[in-house]
Amino acid sequence: MALNASSLPRRKFDVVIVGAGGSGMRASLQLSRAGLNVAVLSKVFPTRSHTVAAQGGIGASLGNMSEDNWHYHFYDTIKGSDWLGDQDAIEFMCREAPKVVYELEHFGMPFDRNPDGTIYQRPFGGHTANYGEKPVQRACAAADRTGHAMLHTLYQQNVKARTNFFVEWMALDLIRDAEGDVVGVTALEMETGDIHILEAKTTLLATGGAGRIFAASTNAFINTGDGLGMAARAGIPLQDMEFWQFHPTGVAGAGVLLTEGCRGEGAILRNSDGERFMERYAPTLKDLAPRDFVSRCMDQEIKQGRGCGPNKDYVVLDMTHLGADTIMKRLPSVFEIGHNFANVDITKEPIPVVPTIHYQMGGIPTNIHGQVVTPNGQIPNAIVNGLYAVGECSCVSVHGANRLGTNSLLDLVVFGRAAGNHIVEFNNKNKNHKPLPADAVDRTLERVARLDSSTSGEYAQDVANEIRSVMQQHAAVFRTQASMNEGVTKILEVAKRVPNIALKDKSKVFNTARVEALEVENLIEAAKATMISAAARTECRGAHTVEDYERPADDPQFPLGRNDAEWMKHTLFFSEDNRLEYKPVNLKPLTVESVPPKVRTF
Ligand SMILES: Cc1cc2nc3c(=O)[nH]c(=O)nc-3n(C[C@H](O)[C@H](O)[C@H](O)COP(=O)(O)OP(=O)(O)OC[C@H]3O[C@@H](n4cnc5c(N)ncnc54)[C@H](O)[C@@H]3O)c2cc1C
Repeated sequence: MALNASSLPRRKFDVVIVGAGGSGMRASLQLSRAGLNVAVLSKVFPTRSHTVAAQGGIGASLGNMSEDNWHYHFYDTIKGSDWLGDQDAIEFMCREAPKVVYELEHFGMPFDRNPDGTIYQRPFGGHTANYGEKPVQRACAAADRTGHAMLHTLYQQNVKARTNFFVEWMALDLIRDAEGDVVGVTALEMETGDIHILEAKTTLLATGGAGRIFAASTNAFINTGDGLGMAARAGIPLQDMEFWQFHPTGVAGAGVLLTEGCRGEGAILRNSDGERFMERYAPTLKDLAPRDFVSRCMDQEIKQGRGCGPNKDYVVLDMTHLGADTIMKRLPSVFEIGHNFANVDITKEPIPVVPTIHYQMGGIPTNIHGQVVTPNGQIPNAIVNGLYAVGECSCVSVHGANRLGTNSLLDLVVFGRAAGNHIVEFNNKNKNHKPLPADAVDRTLERVARLDSSTSGEYAQDVANEIRSVMQQHAAVFRTQASMNEGVTKILEVAKRVPNIALKDKSKVFNTARVEALEVENLIEAAKATMISAAARTECRGAHTVEDYERPADDPQFPLGRNDAEWMKHTLFFSEDNRLEYKPVNLKPLTVESVPPKVRTF
């Protein structure tokens, strides 16, 4: 029998949340506690979401160990964002930070403690006191397993609040009606291979990052940008996707992350001469300058022949002076990672590191309530009714062109909570579900039928590997205009191969090949958005550094290559015709004065 909307199993909820990472579960907690009927879908068991891998900490100006306040945090985040962050969202996040961290503490999150019982805080990249004068201790940490502590705490609170979890369910497409409102999702139940319709008054995307569009990444294998693909296929733009963060300290060759908390605890980057080279580039913050900056300095050292090892292609992170006691207390997982992935005892010798893809600054555009927004005629930020997005898949935008470490875990709980509150209000006013449109499941069934009827074609993994290889080569730490242009041509070629993917094994029960094939359709949306947005931005800003546009810091017109007159604006990528639009950055905070743009030195 041919599948259609009436033959598929249907369920109705107040809210469907796609994603059980920190952001999805912070939102679901708010909703379940308010008595709403909430379904949370996840490709993996909730506590295996990538949030579990977060190591270093969550940022909040508690001031437990050095003088701090939210104004400093606000300033650092704007400067870190290279003035692409929206200042209303940044103010909201930094002011809420202490509140949401104390809330996590009260939920039972096992933070490390100071002797006086307060939460332990460590220094982190780009975190300063007194507007850039000196490093500050702002990262609230549970050893080097902060995400693990946070995710388990949120999961347990959700179990208590009776949230419905749909584990090993993969959402496939958004359902939009004729008015453009979102009325639910279609999803694949992996255990049976069945397709379901989940109707909802509100749908919230919390699907995490798309780090797996790159070959070398600190991200989990499930981070394939599914929410981005779902949004893009439904005609919703993706914002600022040219900005990808390279983390300075991925283990060379392995990609596994060594937290910035290492440098927070005093670790030092050295070149082949044994020199602490960051002193030359960032005299004040040294090894704790923001990530985009440190990654480029490392790249520079390697390019100038001061890399370490037989091929001079990495630098080293030296922790030997910290002492085994500090390492085992504050960085126990880093010790294990050194042993398992580099065969190095970090208490005795330095460990090889290279900048590695880590985080997407861009995503699905939202306002500070988590509502998804899109341009509509004269309105730049028209609300898409029924759709919210939070966490790494969203772009609110607090990270702008470069995220500060610890601001992501913060973003998850601040905006997860805010979206939850906003949805509760909406739900109270709207008692009924909107009807499903006649074409509700057409897109999904067409995708599934294409795979099921395929007789010849390419393996999904071959196409996925090609995407990763193009992105790795053409959207790197340093970019050139020629290389990005070539990247656009190549990624559009790869995109043509995606409909040609064939599924050899057509079985239904736990068919991971089917899941991987469906994921490639999401990877390609994130990759296209990244490559096309990057090639169009003819300046240097934050993580987007293009050699053609680099300028010295004292260039009167374009210091460091940043062109505020033309480019202080957000990119919006529309998948259907690979079109770009732009919208202004919000330089107006909610209550305080704007932080005016200046040259970014450390
Ligand atoms: C190694 C590492 C260390 C980090 N350390 C820090 C740190 O110390 N501090 C900090 O602030 N940030 C850190 N970050 C960044 C931060 O951890 C992430 O940005 C954040 O955890 C993302 O959370 P999320 O809720 O958006 O998504 P995730 O935690 O990635 O969860 C995504 C969820 O969506 C689900 N999902 C995805 N697609 C589908 C689909 N189609 N159907 C159903 N479910 C789906 C997944 O199953 C999962 O449950 C780190 C990141 C990494 C990779």
